[in-house]
Amino acid sequence: MSTEVINPATGKKIRNYEELSVDDASKAVDKAHEVWVQWRNTTFKERAGYMLNAARILKEEKAKWGRLMTEEMGKVTKSGIAEAEKCAWVCEYYAQNAEKFLQSEKIETDASKSFVSYQPIGVVLAIMPWNFPFWQVMRFAAPALMAGNAGVLKHASNVPGCGKAIEEIFQRAGFPEHLFTTLLIGSDKVNDIISHEKIRAVTLTGSTPAGKAVAARAGELLKKTVLELGGSDPYVVLEDADLEPTVETCVTSRLINTGQSCIAAKRFIVVKSLKAEFEKLMVEKMKEKVLGDPSDDETDLGPMAREDLRDDLHQQVQQSIKAGAKCLLGGKVPDRSGAYYPATVLTNVKPGMPAYGEELFGPVASIIEADDEQDAIRIANDTSFGLGAAVFTRDEQKGEWIAEKDLEAGGCFVNSFVKSDPRLPFGGIKESGYGRELGVFGIREFVNIKTVYIK
Ligand code: NDP
Repeated sequence: MSTEVINPATGKKIRNYEELSVDDASKAVDKAHEVWVQWRNTTFKERAGYMLNAARILKEEKAKWGRLMTEEMGKVTKSGIAEAEKCAWVCEYYAQNAEKFLQSEKIETDASKSFVSYQPIGVVLAIMPWNFPFWQVMRFAAPALMAGNAGVLKHASNVPGCGKAIEEIFQRAGFPEHLFTTLLIGSDKVNDIISHEKIRAVTLTGSTPAGKAVAARAGELLKKTVLELGGSDPYVVLEDADLEPTVETCVTSRLINTGQSCIAAKRFIVVKSLKAEFEKLMVEKMKEKVLGDPSDDETDLGPMAREDLRDDLHQQVQQSIKAGAKCLLGGKVPDRSGAYYPATVLTNVKPGMPAYGEELFGPVASIIEADDEQDAIRIANDTSFGLGAAVFTRDEQKGEWIAEKDLEAGGCFVNSFVKSDPRLPFGGIKESGYGRELGVFGIREFVNIKTVYIK
């Protein structure tokens, strides 16, 4: 079977990739395991040398990687270049810190010596999405390889070129052949790969249904999973918020990657007294954003990654309007080829509407009115998701309290948009998944936390 890659900016086919059979994909897992047996005994210094080479290749050729992302999933090229730079950062970060994070720790007991040692576990299967086609992979691969594991990647079917490019980067960086392999397979073959006896754990970033399907199969086989799934991040705007920079931050977050980010701001929960002013400013700022050719430096919003995703989003918008939401901006599919959707603002969003309860994975802002602070927090938590959240207030102490104690999410930010950073753990609660990527917590997900006891 072959996979067609469509450029979402034009709707035109750009290339075909032959899919691997289950047999060939399984052989690649066998090879990864064989290489891992040696790799697990390499020093951190050796691993760090290769990882720094990968960082250098990412930086030196960032324009090429940016163009590839544009071609396959419509990312604005300047954002793709920034993504390649961020990938270099995560490679450098784990090259510099992995040894420290995985140092053995002595624990006093009745033994003459007892300690905890962090040992690699083997081949980890990574199932990754198209929205940040380099970053999502690198934030798994950099800590996993530095911890002494091997990786096989099943990338999203619309970004096979990105998957192969990442494999190539690790090869050129000097990592042993087969240690990191991209398997060009569809999601129908994933269960067979999870079942391979040499696959020791699985990580998935993507939608909640995909996460549930993969976790169910891995669970049957008692293989560990880390899941980073969708989000419907609430941004709570309190009465004393500094409105101008608040709206600026909200718009920036909502439109990151043409709105296709799990941690983009999605629901704006604004106290009654500020709502009219917030709506006005938000429409003004969203209107300024330029929709167009993703390879053009002036463009803010490129096409969405696929036409079916754009059509699903439009349906969510239409259904919300039918149920009583008011459309203040956008909401119409532009009359041009490509998977474009305009910056859209919905207000008077209420329970029961898709814009209230579902993830809107595109450039659509949903404004929800709250009576007061307590009501705003209640609405923020009235969701099946729990990935990120933010609160805007001039009272930093109050903001910190709400972020730490009240908002139900894996990451809560005050007067700032939610973002990932190699130094900080990243992940969700509720239907946004479990486990953590990045920071010290990320590298310890795929290790055997081994107790050693010497009488
Ligand atoms: P999916 O979740 O379907 O795809 C993500 C990855 O999972 C892809 O590699 C996909 O492979 C794979 N996959 C999908 N279903 C299964 C399955 N049953 N078993 C094993 N692997 C599977 O995302 P979509 O591209 O369909 O996007 C749909 C929605 O998902 C978006 O609108 C958004 O809401 C959410 N999403 C969230 C992301 C996040 O960052 N949290 C990223 C992307 C999407 P294949 O491409 O071959 O189907």
